[in-house]
Parts: sequence; structure tokens; C-alpha cells
Amino acid sequence: MPRQIYDEDHEAFRATVHEFVERTLKPRAEEMVREKSIARDIWREAGKQGLFGLGIPEEYGGAGVTDYRFNAVAAEEVAAFSAALSSCFGIHSDVNPPYLVELGTDEQKQRWLPGMASGDLISAIAMTEPSGGSDLAALKTTAMRADDGSGDWIVNGSKTFITNGYSADLVIVAARTDPAKGAKGITLFVIEEGMPGFGRGRKLDKVGQEESDTSELFFENVRVSDANRLGAEGVGFVAMMQRLPQERIGGAVSNTANAAQILRETIEYAKDRKAFGQPIGTFQHNKFKIAELVTAVEVTQAYVDDCVAAHARGELTAVDAAKAKWWSAQVQNDVLDECVQLYGGYGYMNEYRVARAWRDARVTKIWAGSNEIMKELIGRDLGL
Ligand SMILES: Cc1cc2nc3c(=O)[nH]c(=O)nc-3n(C[C@H](O)[C@H](O)[C@H](O)COP(=O)(O)OP(=O)(O)OC[C@H]3O[C@@H](n4cnc5c(N)ncnc54)[C@H](O)[C@@H]3O)c2cc1C
Repeated sequence: MPRQIYDEDHEAFRATVHEFVERTLKPRAEEMVREKSIARDIWREAGKQGLFGLGIPEEYGGAGVTDYRFNAVAAEEVAAFSAALSSCFGIHSDVNPPYLVELGTDEQKQRWLPGMASGDLISAIAMTEPSGGSDLAALKTTAMRADDGSGDWIVNGSKTFITNGYSADLVIVAARTDPAKGAKGITLFVIEEGMPGFGRGRKLDKVGQEESDTSELFFENVRVSDANRLGAEGVGFVAMMQRLPQERIGGAVSNTANAAQILRETIEYAKDRKAFGQPIGTFQHNKFKIAELVTAVEVTQAYVDDCVAAHARGELTAVDAAKAKWWSAQVQNDVLDECVQLYGGYGYMNEYRVARAWRDARVTKIWAGSNEIMKELIGRDLGL
């Protein structure tokens, strides 16, 4: 079905992003996998092509775009090539800027947003801890006022599984500032590269998504100026809950675009590859299977598109974002598993995109709120 949500301006931006993917990302794919990270010059080139500044106001170096559909276009084009790169870029361009734009002081915005828009500064967001990610309100990293009257904070604790964590110049960190207040005792801070006591573990060895750097972060008596506190004391948990829907719809956009692209490639393979003297796609089982997969992707796309349009109007609810996220993650995983099957033995070889995509996709049912947590949110909304 023809998609309805994009007009010619969105398609023109799509062409720019597509050209960037072809020219800059594709030729460097193996390098990124080998290095387990994205080189600085690639971040800067993405910034130059306008991928990072969309939601950042013009006075802070961005494009000042309030129409989320442009963000969705960028996510689709990058995810069609690599789910991992879409996640690294998406966290930097879609997830983190709203925290700074909406909660930051003018001084903080001046300090960080122009560099984020240009790709000179890489950002991460650190919520999850070794002791748990789903129960965010129970996080243990602390930030306590220094007792020297300076107003500074002393941060102690650790985070894990942090996307862009190894390379990040600045990390939005959720820390407990009042142990007695539960979710209302959490505050956000921006912790920067070079602060004494801020350390990083190795780049974690993941099942897939090798080209993204995912790290542990350690805070040992890190002295953080009050000028790096993001938002008021105690509002960190609510701030994260308010911004998770954008992260989740971004995830849904990427999941669907990634599955759709690998499926298109698989259909071409099924037309070409022969067994028993005929293309494997023409066996009735495979033909029906492909018909089911195409249907699943298109039906999912329609719901995700509705959510994107709603978000662009400022009307997307957290519950609908949760539905889009878990459903698209499940469909992506189901579709890619069947695509591997259609490729036969080649589908199990890392040199084939389908194999990597299958490995890369597994995490989409876990991160940014697992499928179980998404269903918990939906169930709660139903009064259950
Ligand atoms: C590659 C990767 C990148 C990531 N990037 C980031 C990042 O940039 N920043 C960040 O902060 N985090 C990041 N994460 C962390 C991710 O968000 C967490 O892994 C996720 O939220 C789950 O937390 P957990 O791993 O502690 O699992 P747990 O919370 O220990 O959960 C374990 C299992 O129990 C289930 N479970 C938990 N509670 C319930 C419940 N109430 N009902 C039913 N089932 C439940 C979960 O669904 C899961 O299946 C990343 C993770 C990965 C793997």
C-alpha cells in the first residue's frame, strides 16, 4: 500500500540520507565492525548532512525542525542499512537532544547542542545499571552534594550496556540524589569525558550489532558541578518517562525499516536461487511464507506510520508507542528468522547481510524497555 505520511520535502531529505548511507556508511561497514565503533569523521559527516540537528533549535546550531517525520525518515534510511548504526545515531539525534532542549539552561544548550548537531560531540544516555534496567526507579548510582559548600555533586556507581558509551563526550546520567524518595529522588546530570573518576569498561562483546560501541561506565567520586545538573532535583524519573515514547517510536521505525529491507533482499534471493530446477521462492510453501512476511511488515508499517504521524502532531501516547515498539520488534525478529531460513546455509554465514541482521535484531525485544515491560504498560492502561 502506498504510504501516506510523507510529502516531497521528506522524500528530498530521504534522498540526502540515502546518499550519505551509500557514500559514507556502506564502504566503511567492515571497518566499523572491526573497530566496534563509528569513526569520528563519520559522526562529523553525518552531522554535516543534517542527521543530528533536526530537533535542535537554530540558535544552537540545529535545523529547528519540529516535524518528527524528518527524524523518522533518517531512522528508516540508516536502519535499512544497519540496525546498529540506526541505534547509535538515533540515541544521539532523537533521544538525547530533547533532554537538553527541554530541560537544559541556556548556558548548557550553548555548551553542548552545537557540537551535538555537528557531530563533534558524541552523546550517550545512561539509565541501566548492572543490578537492573527494567526497574529504573530502583537505580543505585548516587549523586550527593559535596560537603564543602561548593554546590558540586559527588557521583558514585556504575552503568552498563550504554550505547555510544565508550566514545561519548557527554553522557546523560540518571542518579539518585535522595535515597528516601524512590522515583522522586532521581536527578539527571551531564557527565563529560575527562572528569576525574569517570571511567569506561571495554567495548562489550555482543551477539550482534558489532559496529555499535556498548560499554560499562564507572563513577568513582566524580565531582560534577551543579552547572551540569539537567533539570530540577528529583524530576529525573518523570523526565525519562516523558521522553521514552520518542525513543520507542524511533525504535519501532527502525525495526520496521530494517525488516522491510532485508525482506526485499530475501525476495530477490528467492527469485534467483534454484533448487530442484526451480527458484526456491516458487515452491508453494516458500511463496506463502513470503506472502505472510510481506503482509506482516506492511500491516506493521501502517500502525507505525500512524504513530509517527501522531507524534509529529504531538499526540502519540506512551501506551501506543509501547504497542508499536514491542510489536515491531517481534515482527522484525520473526521476519528475519524466516529470511535466514529462505537463504539456507548462506543465511547462517556472517558475510551475508541477512545473518547479521538476524543477530542484530535480537536485542530490539530487550532494550529501551523489554517486550514484557511494554506489555506491562499496555496492560496497566487497560486497568489490569
Ligand atoms: C545492546 C544494548 C544497548 C543498550 N543501550 C542502552 C543505553 O544506551 N542506555 C541504557 O540506559 N540502557 C541501554 N541498554 C539496556 C536495556 O535498556 C536493558 O537491558 C533493558 O531495559 C532490560 O534491563 P535488564 O537487562 O537489566 O534486564 P532485567 O530488568 O533484569 O530483566 C530481565 C528479564 O525480566 C523481565 N522483566 C523484568 N521486569 C519484569 C516485569 N515487571 N514483568 C515481566 N517481566 C519482567 C525482562 O523483560 C527481561 O526479560 C542496552 C542494552 C543492550 C543489550
